[in-house]
Amino acid sequence: MILPMTEAKNPRTVLTLFGTRPEIIKLAPVIRQLDLYPKRFRTVNVSSGQHTDLLAPFVKLFAVRVDHDLGVLRPGQPLSQLFARVLSEFDPILVKEKPDIVLVQGDTTTAVAGALAAFHRGIPVGHVEAGLRTDDPLNPFPEETNRRLITRIARYHFAATKRNVRALCHEGVSREDIFLTGNPVVDALQHIGTSMVRSPALEAVLEKTTGLRRIALTTHRRESFGGVLEGNLRVLRDFIESHPDVALIFPVHPNPMVREMADAVLGKLERVHLLDPLDYPDFIGMLSESWLIVSDSGGVQEEAPSLGKPLLVLRETTERPEAVEAGIAHLVTTPDELHTMLHEADAGRFGSSQRAITNPFGQGDSGQRIVRVLRRLLDPIDVFSP
Ligand code: UDP
Repeated sequence: MILPMTEAKNPRTVLTLFGTRPEIIKLAPVIRQLDLYPKRFRTVNVSSGQHTDLLAPFVKLFAVRVDHDLGVLRPGQPLSQLFARVLSEFDPILVKEKPDIVLVQGDTTTAVAGALAAFHRGIPVGHVEAGLRTDDPLNPFPEETNRRLITRIARYHFAATKRNVRALCHEGVSREDIFLTGNPVVDALQHIGTSMVRSPALEAVLEKTTGLRRIALTTHRRESFGGVLEGNLRVLRDFIESHPDVALIFPVHPNPMVREMADAVLGKLERVHLLDPLDYPDFIGMLSESWLIVSDSGGVQEEAPSLGKPLLVLRETTERPEAVEAGIAHLVTTPDELHTMLHEADAGRFGSSQRAITNPFGQGDSGQRIVRVLRRLLDPIDVFSP
């Protein structure tokens, strides 16, 4: 469906809304492409401020101009308060900027509340990374249900893979409103790959772990807080202690639950390096220098295939089975399974023959593809011009 055009007006205003690390990583390549066409597009970039400290280095790295900051972060606020703040703070921006379309990404509270605010003002929503699904609306929580809600609200759906397209069609979304574009995380990764400058802090950790097999760890998902998180960290600790040629590098998420558990189980251990969250070039640098990645992150499941690094996914279920099917990732649902898989990897039965594979999530041109679609949707006459 093409947007109803009142009268031709250029440039069209495209508003992007982001609030967390993965959102900016995946929207930055789209913003960069939009900014290549200043006569056709005016970009308005809005940060909700859902994760201020984590977001700042990424805004700088990708040179994203933040036009508005909703400043919604309050320590320990429940999801409903966060949702309500995004909804109410975003509305006046919509009134002021009058965008032709609002782009949200993924599955955060920022994305779902922002989509609803746009809907209330009759502004069409485009959903980047649409169609990811697990079978369980409660897992991951609250992201899986957020995604499903955004699908109901959005007018246009930018899907990374054919599986994502099928999931949307299966739920009754019209095929002509779905666009197979790949995931812009691959664009971001390639962008960083060409200009990778590692910090002295990361270089120091790599230096200290030279000659060791490095495990890169990230874990911060709510569903694993408590027993599962503790169990996984204990399994990793035992593995490191019993394997003198293995080191663990763990950039610890600032969530206090994760920090306290990491300190309690892994603090002061030889060959374990607990770091503050890394900026993107350092993070990708760390992954590239690792023997094995262990992570519950969504984005890391998309990055590992590009880097050719074997990955143990710490989740009950994944909305990105493409990496598992490609043989580069393995789902680990319990600490016992983690124990088994670490020993499989140690014995060379998992991950030993990995190399960079064709990334099932995209080829690095997703930003371009999304913008091509936006040109067509927002300005049908534009298809005929160069
Ligand atoms: N990331 C990073 N530094 C870190 C940890 C993660 O740059 O210390 C990046 C990572 O490359 C990935 C993204 O942040 O692309 C993932 O964020 P997160 O795990 O918070 O969210 P998810 O992808 O699970 O939604």
